[in-house]
Amino acid sequence: MTEAVASLIFCATCGEKMASSAAACPKCGAPNSAAAGKVSKKEWLPTLLLCFFLGVFGFHRFYVGKVGTGVLQLLTLGGFGIWSFIDFIMIIIGNFKDAEGLPLKR
Ligand SMILES: [Zn+2]
Repeated sequence: MTEAVASLIFCATCGEKMASSAAACPKCGAPNSAAAGKVSKKEWLPTLLLCFFLGVFGFHRFYVGKVGTGVLQLLTLGGFGIWSFIDFIMIIIGNFKDAEGLPLKR
């Protein structure tokens, strides 16, 4: 198995364990300097175009690495179009994250 495991770091403020990709400490809310400014390797425009043309097949989710929910969208035709439409809105407003929870590169 070569599955990537999210590495854990310790919060500089309270010492709580948290994922290195987390934007902020889940305990004290201090921003995570290690993740600051981190963006996805996946790009925003291809994700938007994939969602627009092939969103009901979950292609935009496959692209950003969200394979599980991508398959689910493929099988349900994007939650009968509603789910993929919500994804489309999320991509436009910049709220759509990749499989690691990072914002898409613009
Ligand atoms: Zn903390």
